Amino acid sequence: MNTNKPRIVVLGAGYAGMMTTKRLTQKLNPEEAEIVLVNKHNYHYQTTWLHEVAAGTINTNQARVMISDVINPDRVRLVYDSVVKVKKDEKRVELENGELEYDYLVVALGFETNTFGIKGMKENAFFIQDVDSCRHINEHIEYQFAKYNNEENAEDHSLNILVGGGGFTGIEFVGELAEKVPKLCRKYDIDPAKARIINVEAAPSIMPGFDEDLVDYARKSLQERGVEFREGAKISECKEDAFVINDEEEIKAGTIVWTGGVTGNSVLGESGFELTKGKVTVEDTLQAPGNENIFVLGDCAWVMNKEDGKPYPPNAQGAIQHATTCANNIKALLHGESLEPFVFDNKGVVASLGKSDAMGTVFSDKKLYGKTAASMKKVVDNRYILMLGGPKLFLKKGKIRPF
Ligand code: FAD
Ligand code: NAD
Repeated sequence: MNTNKPRIVVLGAGYAGMMTTKRLTQKLNPEEAEIVLVNKHNYHYQTTWLHEVAAGTINTNQARVMISDVINPDRVRLVYDSVVKVKKDEKRVELENGELEYDYLVVALGFETNTFGIKGMKENAFFIQDVDSCRHINEHIEYQFAKYNNEENAEDHSLNILVGGGGFTGIEFVGELAEKVPKLCRKYDIDPAKARIINVEAAPSIMPGFDEDLVDYARKSLQERGVEFREGAKISECKEDAFVINDEEEIKAGTIVWTGGVTGNSVLGESGFELTKGKVTVEDTLQAPGNENIFVLGDCAWVMNKEDGKPYPPNAQGAIQHATTCANNIKALLHGESLEPFVFDNKGVVASLGKSDAMGTVFSDKKLYGKTAASMKKVVDNRYILMLGGPKLFLKKGKIRPF
């Protein structure tokens, strides 16, 4: 490749990184810039499907796409390596196995699970963090059921699955478990009453701050399918086989998963970016303050809504929209033109409650429940697959099967 061209380096092949790379290849001529995409693995995964991988309700491979299947390696240099830190003063990125120089940098490294320093959480709980961590959860749950079946004096609590945190991730995960656990009970000939799914939330209600009617719907639907909720129950410690609640009560389980919060990728801190709650508060052009040539996107960024002074919700639809603004603004910098501000187009929020149930809001707060909401969720999932890889990818990885 011609090294005299300006080099754009994109860090992270999640929603923001993949779509930025794709948009850059559409908006720039190959002669205008060299594009480099750096990612830990040679695959891109659907972070929004990780709870399904963790419960084992979809195959791991359905949630993964080989990057070279959707990004042309002749057009974009693909580097499969882990980012260690950004050396802003030197315009270099340190990787586990080398270094890269950049002229323009896009930091799109996603989230990391936040344990808020809760004693024992890091050591004893599983996290819904990436494909590998979720595959381990699925394998561990299956192992608990197989072991129970084979051991004479197996303890009933080994079948319990504890999920700490009743935000969107925790609720979507217990929705998948409500489908998977009865199947495991049938497979291993276990009385379903012995396998409990327990969600523990510190706030007075699960999904704090979300629409009350929709939350009530979710709680009832999941309870009817056997999920137990402990609301107003703060987890103060995680032991090898238990959560300690409100410093006094213990709930035991064979599988413990923490979905109690996320923060920006730790590479941001390692690189000396100024952080607010683990993320960079970016300019409305998505540039890092004081760094014209660095854009920070997706779950690494707080993008402020000027109307209410609060950050936009960090989610996949935001990350995908950041990509378009970022690509436009890099093109503008290359052409010496003025940059555009990011404007969030909120299409609503839908949370799945298993394969055939969901709830959420679309189009200016219209509430959706049940199969209609579940269909909408599939439409959203499939729309992204189509945007990323067209009909060919949709046929391979899309959610095509009816309920
Ligand atoms: P990600 O998509 O997480 O991508 C980050 C990428 O960076 C990954 O490929 C990772 O491998 C790579 N990476 C990380 N560290 C390094 C490193 N050091 N070196 C190299 N590469 C690295 N949002 C919605 O809008 N709708 C939903 O329905 C929804 N459902 C969700 C369900 C779950 C279970 C979870 C956890 C989140 C969900 N979200 C949803 C939120 C959404 O997934 C995130 O906001 C979104 O993934 C952010 O995109 P991103 O590009 O910033 O990061
Ligand atoms: P979150 O921060 O939204 O929820 C974490 C939950 O854990 C909160 O309800 C919090 O009160 C609870 N919690 C924290 N500490 C606790 C403790 N000590 N004991 C008990 N409970 C505790 O995190 P999340 O659910 O992982 O979501 C992360 C982001 O991803 C959010 O922005 C969310 O909107 C997004 N997301 C969106 C969807 C969707 O749109 N369908 C699905 C999943 C995640």
